[in-house]
Amino acid sequence: MKLLLLGGTAEARELAAALAARPDLDVVLSLAGTTNAPARFALPVRRGGFGGVDGLSRYLAEQAIDAVIDATHPFAAAMSAHAVAACTTMNVPLLRIERSAWQPEPGDDWHVVADAPAAAKQLTDFGARVFLSVGARSLSPFENVHGKHWIVRSIEAPEPAPAFENWTLIRARPPFSVAEEIALLCDYEVDVLVTKNSGGRATEAKLAAARRLGIPVLMIARPALPEPERRFVSVEALIAALPVPHQAPG
Ligand code: NAP
Repeated sequence: MKLLLLGGTAEARELAAALAARPDLDVVLSLAGTTNAPARFALPVRRGGFGGVDGLSRYLAEQAIDAVIDATHPFAAAMSAHAVAACTTMNVPLLRIERSAWQPEPGDDWHVVADAPAAAKQLTDFGARVFLSVGARSLSPFENVHGKHWIVRSIEAPEPAPAFENWTLIRARPPFSVAEEIALLCDYEVDVLVTKNSGGRATEAKLAAARRLGIPVLMIARPALPEPERRFVSVEALIAALPVPHQAPG
């Protein structure tokens, strides 16, 4: 069985490791190619876009793909929409892994906004020092907001650098502990946190830290995505749904 795994997330890395150990499956991992130093994988990897829905449809046919697993980030809306359209057209099963969204807890001061431009607009209601935790490639909607000091944390330096008047770059790789996040919010005197509702464990400690310190959070809601054929909230559940490997008679 030949599978195309659309990656770029921790779940995709976990799936890649688990599926590489399955000799009954022939799996190709696809990455957008936006990271300079991506992790190493025990699977064949292809990099770069397919060229929209038509390009992906062609790829599915040429490579005789039997099923697609969409393990992209919940905010990778274009790739997920293209996967639904191409798989529907080509009659290829599509399985998506979608981690649960974060939910507010007692003590949280969340302000949910529809997208990054809405977050940028609403920031005028908050203090000057902003922990902008939205990913290095999602900074541009905030470039026209004046009078702020932006604290940006990223694995790699944003390329190109954002056109911010005042900003501090912190180079770090998740996961982060609550204690580390409290220290960051205090050291940089953060007034407000802006984040996408990515979900997942690796970056959720910042929410607990903001709750503990009474810091407001501008929470960018997830984009609406077209429904895949099947959806799973965990790597384990998705693996359990794959065909059982053929056991050679002992
Ligand atoms: P996007 O807006 O949905 O995708 C833009 C284009 O990039 C797609 O149309 C596709 O190009 C190409 N692409 C995206 N993911 C791909 C993949 N796995 N394999 C091959 N091509 C891919 O996605 P994005 O938000 O730019 O995210 C890019 C990558 O970073 C994704 O793999 C995602 O999982 C990861 N990521 C995103 C975020 C985020 O906040 N958006 C956070 C963490 C990780 P074509 O149309 O040419 O096929």
